[in-house]
Amino acid sequence: MIGLTTALALADRGAEVMLTEAGHTGQEASWAGAGILFPIYPWRYSTRVQTLAQRGRVLYPALAERVLAESGIDPGYIRSGLRLFDDHETASRWCREHHEPAETVSGAAGGGLLLPAVAQIRNPRLCAGLKALLIGLGVTVREACRVTGLDEQHDGVTAVTAGGERIAAGTVIVCAGAWSRRLLPALPIRPVKGQMLLLEDEPGRWPHILLEDGRYLVPRADGRLLIGSTVEDIGFDQGTDAKAMQKLREHFARRFPRLLELPEQGRWAGLRPASDDEQPIIGPLSGSQRIYANTGHFRNGLTMAPAAAEALLETMG
Ligand SMILES: Cc1cc2nc3c(=O)[nH]c(=O)nc-3n(C[C@H](O)[C@H](O)[C@H](O)COP(=O)(O)OP(=O)(O)OC[C@H]3O[C@@H](n4cnc5c(N)ncnc54)[C@H](O)[C@@H]3O)c2cc1C
Repeated sequence: MIGLTTALALADRGAEVMLTEAGHTGQEASWAGAGILFPIYPWRYSTRVQTLAQRGRVLYPALAERVLAESGIDPGYIRSGLRLFDDHETASRWCREHHEPAETVSGAAGGGLLLPAVAQIRNPRLCAGLKALLIGLGVTVREACRVTGLDEQHDGVTAVTAGGERIAAGTVIVCAGAWSRRLLPALPIRPVKGQMLLLEDEPGRWPHILLEDGRYLVPRADGRLLIGSTVEDIGFDQGTDAKAMQKLREHFARRFPRLLELPEQGRWAGLRPASDDEQPIIGPLSGSQRIYANTGHFRNGLTMAPAAAEALLETMG
């Protein structure tokens, strides 16, 4: 997502852009994520993250419309609202201060705070749509093309070695997610694993995203339910385990016992790019004029992506 939205912002500015991707675009964290366009518990994040996330939320409706219009792929942007079962007081205060609509709700499952403006996106579709949109704009998208080297020379030429070939570039922007440090050891980025469980229910049964105690349930329009996620600082491991899956399934089952009966449709894990201080790293590398980074978006990279691309371009002058 970060590479795709950065390429889009650059192409819109008239730059000649090449996107090189080790595997296939939009298959890693940006595929694995839940697609909630809101930092769950935004009040727990820095002002910088909150600002980028709020700006991302403003940019999303137009981005989703554009992707649909220009690629024919509907990224499924819907304002399904988010129902929060904890942090009630802090959340209410934050909502008042940020002009975020919020209403207290009650029901058999317990009381909570509903934030009706919170949206979600089908992130795998958004990535597929963005790729098609970029190709339509003339961006070169090279997949199965891993960057193995980067260099900046005194004569101002920058080059990447990708897919065994040396490619000259005016500017190089590293958006390699959890793998960014492998390309640029100076970047303090590490992978933080998140496991996700996918259940199947009838469409329309679950009106809102649910959030409690750090876990969420995201209902898709087709009846699928995503439940996530773990936060595991254990390196480049993308396996899932039965214990984590059990915990995810049981998390909301106290309120909604129906969850214990629903058939599983899938499970997976993704690697979030986390920086040491949990802030995204957006801008030129220190001491460099031509090598930039746009990475470290940790738990909120889908939400921040369009705003992070905008912020990166601002640093390029
Ligand atoms: C389980 C889970 C749930 C999440 N839920 C949400 C959510 O609901 N909302 C939200 O906003 N965020 C969410 N996130 C966070 C979000 O997914 C990430 O912050 C975001 O996807 C990061 O995007 P990225 O493009 O930096 O990383 P990635 O999507 O991982 O992309 C990095 C890309 O770089 C490529 N690459 C790596 N090394 C090289 C190389 N040497 N050469 C070429 N290509 C290379 C990789 O193949 C990959 O495709 C979630 C994350 C996880 C794991």
